[in-house]
Amino acid sequence: MDFQLTPEQQQFAEAVRRFAKDNLAAGALKRAHTPGFPFDVARLMAKQGLLGITIPEEDGGQGGSLMDAVIAIEQVAAICPRSADVVQAGNFGPIRTFAEYATPEQKQRFLPSLMAGEMAISLCMSEPEAGSAVTELRTTAKADGREVVLNGTKIFSTHSPDASLFLVYVRFDAGVDGIGSVLVERDAPGLSIGQPSAFMSGEDWCQLYFENCRVPATNVLLGPGGFKRQIAGFNVERIGNSARALALGRHAYNLAREHATIRKQFGRPLCEFQGLQWKFADMALKLESAQLLLYRAAARAEGGLPSAYETAIAKLACNQAGFEVANEAVQVMGGLGFSQESLAEYCMRRTRGWMIAGGSIEMMKNRVAETIFDRRFDQRPRKARSPE
Ligand SMILES: Cc1cc2nc3c(=O)[nH]c(=O)nc-3n(C[C@H](O)[C@H](O)[C@H](O)COP(=O)(O)OP(=O)(O)OC[C@H]3O[C@@H](n4cnc5c(N)ncnc54)[C@H](O)[C@@H]3O)c2cc1C
Repeated sequence: MDFQLTPEQQQFAEAVRRFAKDNLAAGALKRAHTPGFPFDVARLMAKQGLLGITIPEEDGGQGGSLMDAVIAIEQVAAICPRSADVVQAGNFGPIRTFAEYATPEQKQRFLPSLMAGEMAISLCMSEPEAGSAVTELRTTAKADGREVVLNGTKIFSTHSPDASLFLVYVRFDAGVDGIGSVLVERDAPGLSIGQPSAFMSGEDWCQLYFENCRVPATNVLLGPGGFKRQIAGFNVERIGNSARALALGRHAYNLAREHATIRKQFGRPLCEFQGLQWKFADMALKLESAQLLLYRAAARAEGGLPSAYETAIAKLACNQAGFEVANEAVQVMGGLGFSQESLAEYCMRRTRGWMIAGGSIEMMKNRVAETIFDRRFDQRPRKARSPE
């Protein structure tokens, strides 16, 4: 067992860090408080080869590994936490599920703009009545000649205010086996987009309403029976969520460590107080142990798709570590940490959201428990089942 990055991975990490220092360090604080998808950063990253890292070369990507993409998130977030969103969007998010399952024609239509940083794609899974219980989703898709007609509503989708393309989970038929997904362009007839609402993290999302929304049948990504494959692709998104959570926790930790060496109270630097030293020891423990679980899940991903258990336990560890460390960093930095003059509070707010997004920490614990006991625990009361 080797706990080191390979020489190539180290070189890649250094190259990304240099890119981030040269291009993203200036303006990192302002970027954190600027709404909207940072397309300027996306275009820069596209030129640097940081979008499509995990997408095969024949599809125009870099043909790299999931671990490479994790390294990219870590290095970018160390300099500019907000810009790590672009690494997520260009490598781990719906783009990855799309690239995994799209037809050659679908890839040709959308991948070049996505990987050039010209276009954003948003994942639409959650609905007012289907959150953690995602298989209860009610948005329907019915074939009608050479079209598919969608009806329903979606909430909370990341980048929905800026996306030109939506990857929408739909129900073609009853039960889990009736679930699949459809690609919907922003200007599709019958799609209306509500006013933006903001999460505590500052991210905006818009409710999407599909009212007899018609798209060509060629826009079906996965037909009925596609749910399990979609979730296999979604585990990559969870690795990106984990990597960002941990990286933002570490960003805040570094700010707090620096602060504790400079800031003096009672005539001594803060780092000389044992009460704070122990906080740092606890923070380091959380970050380093979660990082091992993250690296295990990413490094062992087969065909680029990580295992459900290793993903769940890594996400759980990284979400908790990221938030708890960022929260503690704010405390160590006192009023400055709580102020928008510092990125510590931003890291705290963002990491808080990832304990809910992409499968909450409770749902990750449920998944871990299933492996521990080697059996499935149905969360529904015995008689209730998905809508038929
Ligand atoms: C920052 C952010 C970004 C998001 N981005 C997207 C996106 O891009 N696309 C998208 O489709 N959705 C997105 N979501 C929505 C997200 O996936 C849901 O919020 C999440 O799945 C939880 O669903 P819910 O909010 O309906 O909470 P609920 O499912 O109602 O859960 C409420 C609470 O109950 C707990 N709970 C529920 N069931 C169980 C159980 N069986 N056992 C134990 N505890 C349980 C949950 O963990 C949670 O704490 C995002 C959310 C956030 C916060």
